[in-house]
Amino acid sequence: MGFSAALLQGLAPDGGLYVPAAWPELSVENFGDAAALAEVAQPLLAPFLAGDPLGAELGAIAREAFSFPAPLEPLHADGRLSVLELFHGPTAAFKDFGARFLAACFARLRAAAARPLTILVATSGDTGGAVAAAFHRRPGIEVAVLFPKGLVSPTQERQLTCWGENVRSLAVRGTFDDCQRLVKEAFLDPGLRSQRALSSANSINLGRLLPQAVYYAAASLAVWRAHGERASFVIPSGNLGNSLACLWARRLGLPIAEVVLAHNANRTVPDFLESGSWRPRPSLATLASAMDVGNPSNMERLRALYPQLAELRAAVSAVSVTDEEIRARIGADFRTYGRVWCPHTATAAEAWARLPPERRAHGRWVLVATAHPAKFREIVEPLIGHSVPVPESLAQLFARPVRCVEIDAALGALRAALEVEGNGWTS
Ligand SMILES: *Cc1c(COP(=O)(O)O)cnc(C)c1O
Repeated sequence: MGFSAALLQGLAPDGGLYVPAAWPELSVENFGDAAALAEVAQPLLAPFLAGDPLGAELGAIAREAFSFPAPLEPLHADGRLSVLELFHGPTAAFKDFGARFLAACFARLRAAAARPLTILVATSGDTGGAVAAAFHRRPGIEVAVLFPKGLVSPTQERQLTCWGENVRSLAVRGTFDDCQRLVKEAFLDPGLRSQRALSSANSINLGRLLPQAVYYAAASLAVWRAHGERASFVIPSGNLGNSLACLWARRLGLPIAEVVLAHNANRTVPDFLESGSWRPRPSLATLASAMDVGNPSNMERLRALYPQLAELRAAVSAVSVTDEEIRARIGADFRTYGRVWCPHTATAAEAWARLPPERRAHGRWVLVATAHPAKFREIVEPLIGHSVPVPESLAQLFARPVRCVEIDAALGALRAALEVEGNGWTS
């Protein structure tokens, strides 16, 4: 199975997730003096695209996807702790990187196709915005974003409904589970399938996951060049897509030492590492809502990388952080560093603060900041007693008019909404 085919398929026919069949061996030397994300992407991803229809386009795809930076900002004067800011994209969260890479790939794969491609995304908030932004105005591709009406935050709703043109926003009268069910039913519906080419762009798609290894590669190379030491990462984790990209980068040979998974009160993964028994459970609602996952689907990929429990325990550690601790950490780090974390990033900051002092003193630690705090102003501002400045990208997005169609949580309603021409849907 080639890279392009895995991208278009999303999920394997047996219901499993695609993983690389072989791991190329890379070393620091392979990267020369590459530092910008688009430059680092070339040696990192080229082995996976060798012989693939997209292989010759990798340079252009990477320049398109990585058109904004992921700065590594020191927190302590001696540089032992820094922050990897992944929130400088159009929707101010790390999902912009993967969504944009996938969109750049799909646009090329579909260029010659007769029928437009319809991408269906069910979202509980964050993913839908990043996907809509990435696919907005892409010729030959239409996007339908399904979100549960009234169950996403006002800020999230703005991001889901401000697009128009080839992006249709559907507020479903139901829950997130209803949205997911509708997407699944649509894929199985012979009528819809005969009319349009359907695809999904959810976070388990290899085309979103693999490019995320690029910012870990770039950050670890920067630390290596500056200090001659391997970087250790603390990563806010939910469905494990972001942390898996870091572990893949390490497997490929990048200078990465420890990887700490910071979970919120959804403690399935930390409990598994401790007890050795896998007990998925319903998700709990927390302040770090994009990490509210009780049954992380990427666990399957993590197990594929480290089949033995002992190996897995040696490869990663995991902690769980409560809402109370998230709140306290946001306040404390604002006072200590003058930095404002989003609730997700705060779980990583708390996980780092809990590490034994000798582990902290010997590592070159990187906190992964997954979203800009302005996306979670309602939570953050009361804790720090200040307003959070809105970055330019979000301000632009908030200035756009919103458009949205409300539908019942039934396949017939989705089918009808997809068939309607106009209302911001170019045919
Ligand atoms: C999606 C998301 C996460 C969780 O990432 P996973 O890849 O699901 O582990 C963390 N923080 C933010 C802001 C997110 O949007």
